[in-house]
Amino acid sequence: MANEVRLRYAPSPTGHLHIGGARTALFNYLYAKRHGGKFIVRVEDTDQTRNVENAAEKQMENLKWLGVQWDEGMDIGGPYAPYRQMERLDIYRKYIDQLLAEGKAYYCYATKEELDAEREEQIARGETPKISEKHRNVTPEQREQYEREGRVPSIHFRVPDDRVYVVNDLIRGEVTFESNGIGDFVICRPDGIPTYNFAVVIDDYLMKITHVVRGEEHLSNTPRQLMIYEAFGWEPPKFAHLALILNQDGKKMSKRDESIIQFIEQYRELGFLPEAIVNFLVLLGWSPGGEEEIFSMDDLIERFSLERVSKSPAVFDSTKMNWMNNHYLKNKPLEIIAEMCLPHLQKAGFVEEEPTPEKKEWVKEIVALYQEQMAYCAQIVPLAALFFLEDVVYDEEAKSVLLEPQVPDVLASFRKHVGALETYTPDTIKAALKEVQKETGQKGKALFMPIRVATTGQVHGRDLDRTLYLLGREKVLERAERVLTNREDVVR
Ligand code: GLU
Repeated sequence: MANEVRLRYAPSPTGHLHIGGARTALFNYLYAKRHGGKFIVRVEDTDQTRNVENAAEKQMENLKWLGVQWDEGMDIGGPYAPYRQMERLDIYRKYIDQLLAEGKAYYCYATKEELDAEREEQIARGETPKISEKHRNVTPEQREQYEREGRVPSIHFRVPDDRVYVVNDLIRGEVTFESNGIGDFVICRPDGIPTYNFAVVIDDYLMKITHVVRGEEHLSNTPRQLMIYEAFGWEPPKFAHLALILNQDGKKMSKRDESIIQFIEQYRELGFLPEAIVNFLVLLGWSPGGEEEIFSMDDLIERFSLERVSKSPAVFDSTKMNWMNNHYLKNKPLEIIAEMCLPHLQKAGFVEEEPTPEKKEWVKEIVALYQEQMAYCAQIVPLAALFFLEDVVYDEEAKSVLLEPQVPDVLASFRKHVGALETYTPDTIKAALKEVQKETGQKGKALFMPIRVATTGQVHGRDLDRTLYLLGREKVLERAERVLTNREDVVR
């Protein structure tokens, strides 16, 4: 279709899907869908030293999980296949040959040692190192000589002199670059594999990409790419460079910083919801222009625009991510959240691999207690541990409650009334607690705290009747008994 909007996400398979990459993919996807266009995923794997096995497949799997679904890609094909650069080498070769034939690119026979030496000299002279241009004008005789020596050339692009290249960035406005500051750059390595800056242009052109939305770190590559478009006489796509994502200290997010969770896979493993992540990601740069913060993918497809993407950096705030996920978690059906929590409880050894239907139902009711308060499903493990562990762990605050003078009376009465119940349900438990109140004359905190602390080890918790019910009578009485008979030990 003529004039069809076509955008792509072009990951290099060097690792897991990062927050920044996921945001780039999402913005491309949203823009394409907003304009009734196509979204393509193309894998840029020509820098083989950096490739990690299966990284592309895993990244794509995580994108799909986020709901960022492509129309063309290496798994589903498409009219411009293949969508993996290492499978397109013969395509690039043809275009490289064309540039060589037209004198727009040339062979550079310098060895690594020579290049390193030249670079050091430049640095010693206080210059910004530029790639060697010594072989710009090698004569055919010199070439033959180098070939006889067995040197294998790389191919350099001949950067035009004295030119100004202007990137009309859709987010940042006009950004200009002087060609004289950009040295002839490598477009093909000695092993015959093209570099990113070359392959990206060929592919964006052949795949009819209309808009390139990518991270700011690529802005300085753009003039090089514009030169290649110019060399072929092709019209370049429109460009938009997304500002950096900073951590809360205002520094550029580093993939090595382990204090922030940065990979989509990790969020997935912790029990975050894809819709919460998408909602969080879109606000890293895009603003809806109002107070509203909660957006479904469909809302976003309707509203997203590059005009509302900021050129200032976004700050990654993990508290907000947790808040966002909590918002989505508590609005999901309990069944789904319980299913998501189950593997965490299994991994902690709290629930067997194949629980009975009764056990699953019980787990679900426990999850129901905490659904409101969890930021993500892995939190169910510490929150609900008291239901699964044999021994209660009393912290200092809990211990000080157990030292209060009314505790033995309250617990003895509790043991008596709960022990005497014919059926054990939240309602009968409530009634039993009323009896304890009457019998001991204690009420409010003085009544409930000793019971809560003795049976759960915690001073804070969820609804007491339901907690006691889900703990089961046996456990509750056992724990009360232990405090009654061994108070000294327990609080030591
Ligand atoms: N392969 C590049 C990267 O992973 C993508 C660059 C682009 O979008 O042009 O950073």
